[in-house]
Amino acid sequence: SERNPGQPEYMQAVTEVIESLWPFITNNPRYAEHGLLDRIVEPERVVIFRVAWVDDSGEVRVNRGYRIQHNSAIGPYKGGLRFHPSVNLSILKFLAFEQTFKNALTTLPMGGGKGGADFDPKGRSPGEIMRFCQAFACELFRHVGSDTDVPAGDIGVGGREVGYMSGMVKKLTNRSDCVFTGKGISFGGSLVRPEATGYGTVYFVDEMLKHVGQSLEGLRVAVSGSGNVAQYAIEKAMAFGAKVVTISDSSGTVVDEDGFTPEKLAILAEIKNVLYGRVGEYAERVGARFLSGERPWHVPVDVALPCATQNEITEDDASILIKNGVICVAEGANMPCAAGAVERFEHAKVLFAPGKASNAGGVATSGLEMSQQAMRLFWTHEEVDARLQEIMRAIHQACLRYGEKEDGRVNYVDGANIAGFVKVADAMLAQGVI
Ligand code: NDP
Repeated sequence: SERNPGQPEYMQAVTEVIESLWPFITNNPRYAEHGLLDRIVEPERVVIFRVAWVDDSGEVRVNRGYRIQHNSAIGPYKGGLRFHPSVNLSILKFLAFEQTFKNALTTLPMGGGKGGADFDPKGRSPGEIMRFCQAFACELFRHVGSDTDVPAGDIGVGGREVGYMSGMVKKLTNRSDCVFTGKGISFGGSLVRPEATGYGTVYFVDEMLKHVGQSLEGLRVAVSGSGNVAQYAIEKAMAFGAKVVTISDSSGTVVDEDGFTPEKLAILAEIKNVLYGRVGEYAERVGARFLSGERPWHVPVDVALPCATQNEITEDDASILIKNGVICVAEGANMPCAAGAVERFEHAKVLFAPGKASNAGGVATSGLEMSQQAMRLFWTHEEVDARLQEIMRAIHQACLRYGEKEDGRVNYVDGANIAGFVKVADAMLAQGVI
């Protein structure tokens, strides 16, 4: 920790992964040789840069931009950009570190990276958003490229922002290769990319439940968040016959005992994606209960899908979920469950999927977007969705391979960590000390 002062999220992520890997490494000591562990926790490169732009009132604003190029052992750096006031070096390093193992799990050749800025898009006009994205891309472009580093969206960066940034990068480089994923369909995007993380999370839950002879049909589901991941998790959970009873955002939680319907989801999408509104407005529109400032975890459910942000399920929240009989928790967001919460779930024998397994569908489909653009081909919705399902099944299999315990239960945290680690570590060992 003295090498990474003031980086609690990064220390948390590294500690969790190394602790879960430790028994495996003890049994396979070649993974402790050649400084492998010291190298794997040190990002290959960190870029921090000034983003200066002019707001609508003519005032100059200065934000801090980042790109963490964590590991390129198995392919170009790949990972999203986050625009949120909470963005800092610690959070982006934790995300880039996790991304490395997640990307390895997808079966596709992608290294790990992450980036973003401490810019708050909330309340900014469309013109300000475009100028900020262009200013950000003016520096970012010199560090990225289709065979170097391929960013994508994350919190606060959706299709609109990716469009502006990839447009600026294309203008500066005079090249149209795949430098961003999550692009619009007309300029190199892939069908199913917007849906992929939410869909993939639910496909993964389906695999976990099937493995213990159960299904989502008729189960009560709590979703947190109301952004990209949450919306498509809700859609797919409904398609599997589940009843989704909560959503949230940073202003509070909506509880709807009648459950979501496709009509209600369309209203949520309009409020969140078109009007950039709050979930309180949604509650008013559909006549549901709005609990200001609260998170969803006290609502009794069978399945919890945290799809908002890191550390949103505390140890106490986990205890409440367990007391209320939760059987499965799958992370749609990155590290939404605090370490203590994960321990509680494991202790209570709740099926628990870490984000690097359950939310890997998004980056996997980004990998498919890269493939399509490189081949100059365009796959149908069915084709991409089938590949996504296949990848989620493969990730589940990898978790079984490395996470199945003697009593037949599966520790998905260990399974995902070891499977991802082995692929990256083998590639690093084969390429020598660099
Ligand atoms: P969006 O920006 O679309 O949505 C984020 C949602 O989380 C919003 O409802 C937002 O509410 C809420 N939220 C953000 N910060 C906080 C906070 N501090 N407290 C409470 N609520 C908060 O992002 P995505 O849906 O794309 O991403 C959600 C999570 O999933 C992130 O952890 C991301 O890293 C992860 N992820 C996303 C992937 C993707 O493909 N999109 C892929 C893999 C992981 P509000 O509007 O009030 O801010």
